[in-house]
Amino acid sequence: MKHLILGAGPAGVIAAETIRKHAPADEIVIVGDEREAPYSRMAIPYLLMGNIQEPGTHLRHGGDHYQRLGITLHHGRAVKLDSAARTVTLDDGSTLAFDRLLIATGSSTVKPPIPGADGPGVHPCWTLEDARAIMKLARPGAQVLQMGAGFIGCIIMEALAARGVKLSVVEMGDRMVPRMMGPTAGGMIKDWCQAKGVTVYTGARVEAIERPAAAQQSGHGGGGLLGKIAAAVGLGGDKPEARPEPHGAAMNVRLSTGQTVAADLVISAVGVRPNIGFLEHSGVRCLVGVLTDEHLQTNVPGIYAAGDCAEAFDKIAGKTIVSAIQPNAAEQARVAALNMVGKPIELRGVTQINVLDTLGLISASFGNWEGVAGGQHVELTEREAGGGGRHLSLQFADDRLIGCNAIGWTQHVGVMRGLVEGQVALGPWKDKLLHDPTRLMEAYLDCAQAQASFAHTR
Ligand SMILES: Cc1cc2nc3c(=O)[nH]c(=O)nc-3n(C[C@H](O)[C@H](O)[C@H](O)COP(=O)(O)OP(=O)(O)OC[C@H]3O[C@@H](n4cnc5c(N)ncnc54)[C@H](O)[C@@H]3O)c2cc1C
Repeated sequence: MKHLILGAGPAGVIAAETIRKHAPADEIVIVGDEREAPYSRMAIPYLLMGNIQEPGTHLRHGGDHYQRLGITLHHGRAVKLDSAARTVTLDDGSTLAFDRLLIATGSSTVKPPIPGADGPGVHPCWTLEDARAIMKLARPGAQVLQMGAGFIGCIIMEALAARGVKLSVVEMGDRMVPRMMGPTAGGMIKDWCQAKGVTVYTGARVEAIERPAAAQQSGHGGGGLLGKIAAAVGLGGDKPEARPEPHGAAMNVRLSTGQTVAADLVISAVGVRPNIGFLEHSGVRCLVGVLTDEHLQTNVPGIYAAGDCAEAFDKIAGKTIVSAIQPNAAEQARVAALNMVGKPIELRGVTQINVLDTLGLISASFGNWEGVAGGQHVELTEREAGGGGRHLSLQFADDRLIGCNAIGWTQHVGVMRGLVEGQVALGPWKDKLLHDPTRLMEAYLDCAQAQASFAHTR
């Protein structure tokens, strides 16, 4: 049996290892399009902070790990899938045959259609290659503007702040992390960031990134700031070793509010999109991501998907979703791999949990945090002078907790997860929580244990 895995990220690697464990004689090939040892994007912030070096981002250590397991790593980009012929064409024109296929190609950053966004000094923060470019420019004192304050944006902010840059963040939504946090929580995170010295523009768009004519002219000669930046990020120029000067910004970033912000580096964190373009005309059904069933199988038998590119059924949301976080990639890969080797197993659900450390402020968002029509809601907020404070927002449907937002209250994170994911029937505890949401732990101990012992006796 030949297993072909497209994508050498966490989903691809975990699937390959799981297959090997259960099918010692099967052939396993991973195709990845990055010229890197398989690594974890999650580790990039630690690299930016200087807490680890590049090898620390690698998913597995020991040069012969894959070879020892009989897993072939093949460099290439899948450009076409022929589901009927059971082959994948790579960008060099070669084809690889398969019996079972796993699509684990992850997602890529969306390029904002902004004038000037294609020029030097503008980078996403998604790959190791991006991190290398950012580290060259994000030096102490450099003016850095980040577009986007979503989940990944906030994680990157923490790393940038640790590098001692002067940071501005521009977010289109009316608050920070708008797809994860309600207005109160998003506003509290903004206040906290501002108190920590970050300038945050919410309800604002970047309209253009302009490079002052003087910088451009001197850049043509290779000696100006722009030329140095271009050289530093490998975009040409005659002095690749030149370091950018952190002052005298290379760019003026024009905002929809009429303001202009100077920047030596612009980081684009405006969103990601599953890497599924090569599946066009393949017969594999895609919505936002590759649509999968509870076994992570697509509509084509023998072809599976897992990780950031996969769209799977979430029992809490009651619909299929792409939830691009690493725990989902890992679990989906494990489940897909077991099914690929003929061990039927179902995915329990898609975890919609985000715990975020924004410059030291811990926030969490679980499940359906916006609530549902006809559901009940309780909110408790304790603000602190100078930013910070605590906030708890619980959403119920019938007598179940279906989602929450929290700032602080870190001791409740495990309990919130248990109640939301376990779909625990709260009975009379729902009214007690509506009266005092801080009694989550008591509710969990009472209800979850009762539910567990009931399940046990059935
Ligand atoms: C800076 C940063 C911080 C993050 N922090 C967190 C965090 O704290 N917690 C968390 O849960 N998640 C975090 N994430 C998200 C997490 O990294 C992803 O959810 C995870 O990487 C998904 O794994 P994956 O294997 O599905 O995809 P990926 O890691 O994206 O791997 C997919 C691989 O497939 C390759 N590929 C794409 N197309 C093709 C093709 N056609 N042919 C061959 N190969 C292809 C890609 O280049 C890539 O190497 C973070 C991400 C970033 C960028």
